[in-house]
Amino acid sequence: MIRRTLPAALLALSLLAGCAHQAMAPAAPVDLPNLGVVKGQLVAYHDGGAYDRDLARVAGEAAAWLKARVTTLPAGARPALVLDIDETSLTNWPQLKVNDFGYIKAGGCDIQAGPCSSPAWEMMGQAAAIVPTLALFRQARAAGVAVFFITGRPEGEREATARNLAAVGYEGWAGLVLKGTAAHGQSAATYKTAERAKIEAQGYTIIANMGDQDSDLAGGHAERTFKLANPFYFIP
Ligand SMILES: [Mg+2]
Repeated sequence: MIRRTLPAALLALSLLAGCAHQAMAPAAPVDLPNLGVVKGQLVAYHDGGAYDRDLARVAGEAAAWLKARVTTLPAGARPALVLDIDETSLTNWPQLKVNDFGYIKAGGCDIQAGPCSSPAWEMMGQAAAIVPTLALFRQARAAGVAVFFITGRPEGEREATARNLAAVGYEGWAGLVLKGTAAHGQSAATYKTAERAKIEAQGYTIIANMGDQDSDLAGGHAERTFKLANPFYFIP
């Protein structure tokens, strides 16, 4: 009798306790950052030099790794470096700033007064280099490391993107992968992971992968990953 009733009594007590807890606990206050304040913080982060220092630190870590790794590669190895483009190899700061951090997906681009849509801005091909990444790129090329860009930009922006990369000094890359219709609808992480696997299937060893989004780096197919700062926008 006791064996049967004791567990039931304990269950009843625990249910009562649960109900009491739910009834008595006040709703947690919602504490969200204020968007206007955050925008000011982002501008200060960029313009005050901290952003550049953070970029240089991470790209420097990638450079140190690359320098060490190439000395330990077996004969005949085909080392590769993978780079994202936006906020990794090229900066879109003028466009982000003129749009007050809004994402404008269609229309023209007035880069002085705004608005400036992302496609129009990218087709202009006027983005500046992320300088520490350009230094890493040049170091990789000098060390015989093949460099592949993998970007979420659409295939239709290939010519403008290649022209922009060349104009700021990215010369001698091995591949420029843009998002084609076959990958339409895939997350950045899924698409980019599959593209890194294709590079490996060509016989390359990806010794480093650097990007500004976690979705640039998730999914493996690189010996080391390097995450640059980007508090300005998020790509899942
Ligand atoms: Mg990016």
